Amino acid sequence: MSVRLAPPKTKATGKTVLLFSGGLDSLLIAHLMKPDVLLRVQYGSAYESQEDAALAELQRKNLLPEKAAITTQSMQFLRYHEREGDAIIPLRNLFFVSLAALYGETVILGAMKYDAKLLDKSGPFFDMSSKLLTYLFSPQPWCEGKTVRVVAPFDSYTKGDLVRAFLNSTDVPLTRAEKEETLLTSFSCHTPGQGGKPCGQCKPCLRKWLALEMNGVRIPDGYFETNPWESPMAKGILDGTYQTSTMTKGEILVCREKVLSRQR
Ligand SMILES: [Zn+2]
Repeated sequence: MSVRLAPPKTKATGKTVLLFSGGLDSLLIAHLMKPDVLLRVQYGSAYESQEDAALAELQRKNLLPEKAAITTQSMQFLRYHEREGDAIIPLRNLFFVSLAALYGETVILGAMKYDAKLLDKSGPFFDMSSKLLTYLFSPQPWCEGKTVRVVAPFDSYTKGDLVRAFLNSTDVPLTRAEKEETLLTSFSCHTPGQGGKPCGQCKPCLRKWLALEMNGVRIPDGYFETNPWESPMAKGILDGTYQTSTMTKGEILVCREKVLSRQR
């Protein structure tokens, strides 16, 4: 009769895990926080191939955080739950933090200011998911026990604040020119145009344009498929028919003037 030995119990790895889309926000957070694991979850979103291409380009240019290990996992089932129109996937971050907790104990979410109106990017969610995951990893026959913390260290930052923190950080071993190149190479567009060019019309494109221009990063002409300040959303903010908490009329006017004065 053979004796089956119990496998060793699961225990804490001591690792920090960032949920990493490859877009602008999580890329800058990766540079600023230097997590052990960049966990990228693919679920078949429309812009995944552009994100892949941008990451390959960042890697080729040596602009990814040093020693960062990108772990890519698939959660293809999530795409069947993506809502039409706003692309929201209910419970998405609950799935993501659960997966991340298998890799380490400190789980970093790239939630930003204004995100908290979506409850899976809110303070109570971070607290409750930390408690739930710590409970589920309590000492038991297969597990030694570990304390999981779900955190969002930049949840009081706007995109502009995050770009400024990245540009000003002396902890990021890149020159100013390399930092600007990192910002421009990153990909954050929900509806890319011909050849995967950022559209210049969606919310992430507009917010990226403003965050970069407001921080003195010059965006080359033709970077966006169409001029961000001529997009329906920007026009709506300018004439008061579109309300958003993440962009202001003043910023759009300032940035538009910066671009137009360069072209004169
Ligand atoms: Zn876009």
